[in-house]
Amino acid sequence: MSENIKTFNLKEGAFPIRMNLLLEDIDLENIGRLKNSVCGNIVISLISKDLFRCEGSINTVFIDNCQSCLKDIEVSLNFKCNLVLKDEALMMDDDSNQDQTHYQNLEYFDVKQLIQEEISLNYPNIVKCEEDCLEIEPIKKEEKNLPFKKIRDLID
Ligand SMILES: [Zn+2]
Repeated sequence: MSENIKTFNLKEGAFPIRMNLLLEDIDLENIGRLKNSVCGNIVISLISKDLFRCEGSINTVFIDNCQSCLKDIEVSLNFKCNLVLKDEALMMDDDSNQDQTHYQNLEYFDVKQLIQEEISLNYPNIVKCEEDCLEIEPIKKEEKNLPFKKIRDLID
């Protein structure tokens, strides 16, 4: 199952290209760790010469820490993507930004890179166990080092 997804030359593809992908690891920093594989169902179609569209959905679950109380929580990602694919050589002189565009070297197209970029764009900026976790009663630094203080308070 951990078969590597190799790059391919998108410019020589037969369209549409349908892919059901399972990624078991990703190389993204500063987000949670994968709980299961990343499932991607995508279709790449040809719009015109050297211009492609990628549509599909990406599902996965991460384990992350609530940024307030540090408790482990699950972050489910389940989103659709609809992107225009262009060669990275066109990035500099591209002034059309009507669609979301993903740039890559299309002769060595790496679908994992595309999926990782989409995950990082869709990953929530704020990760909390509850929307108002600790906002009502912020933890003081001293209390963190006294795990039994709360219990003692309850007994009192
Ligand atoms: Zn929390």
